[in-house]
Amino acid sequence: MLGRPRLELKSPDDLVGMHRAGQVVARTLDVVRDLLRPGISTRELDAAAERHIRDLGATPSFLGYHGFVGSICVSVNDEVVHGVPGDRVLRDGDLVSVDCGAILDGWHGDAAFTAPLGEVPADVAALDRATEAALWAGIAAGALGGRLSDISHAVETSVRSAGPFGVVEEYTGHGIGTEMHLPPDVPNVGRPGRGPRIVPGLALAIEPMVTLGAATTDVLDDEWTAVTTDGSWAAHHEHSVTWTTDGPWVLTALDGGRERLGALGVPCGAP
Ligand code: MG
Ligand code: MG
Repeated sequence: MLGRPRLELKSPDDLVGMHRAGQVVARTLDVVRDLLRPGISTRELDAAAERHIRDLGATPSFLGYHGFVGSICVSVNDEVVHGVPGDRVLRDGDLVSVDCGAILDGWHGDAAFTAPLGEVPADVAALDRATEAALWAGIAAGALGGRLSDISHAVETSVRSAGPFGVVEEYTGHGIGTEMHLPPDVPNVGRPGRGPRIVPGLALAIEPMVTLGAATTDVLDDEWTAVTTDGSWAAHHEHSVTWTTDGPWVLTALDGGRERLGALGVPCGAP
């Protein structure tokens, strides 16, 4: 068996830096959310995101990552993640996922949201709500002294309780800090009580990817866009999170996660 990877643990000062990077991502996603409407192209969304990231003095981490050509991923309908911005024009009734990463002073933030454009069928709306609820369930299930798979288990349990959805296992969340993708992987399924301990300074990107059908994916010929194998629609929500003695601190939420955690009866660990 391979040894466990060394986990990057951040000092309190480092976490302040991570939070600043996370806020760039949060604000950029808000800008993109405000632009979402039928008729706009994914390239226009990308350009607005890149401009906003740079205006805040940060660098888009996706741009140039293994040759990726955008500053955001825009994944529409049956696209799960890693959609490449381009000529596609959004239409009424689309389900749009936007994923954004930024680097500020060497620290990475990574977050994503999904939103329906206009009217979508009830099952599509339920899919999106279930995915976002699973993200927050996962965040809330983490605690200092707990184990990584407590998060995975909470995500899976939350999705399964919401309906007959597919939970994608071919992609996972990840550690985050001086790189966008660090160990450990954060699966969206699993039994609790396993994996590394959640300790002060650990930062994780938690990102459930959930479908209306099969949980399996293919990659398109663009070598990036992951789609469901059965064409069912998918949703993706993500936050970068750390845990303090007070509770979870959501680095990519404008309020540190206070409102959503409060609704779950969980104290927020934001300072
Ligand atoms: Mg992401
Ligand atoms: Mg991520």
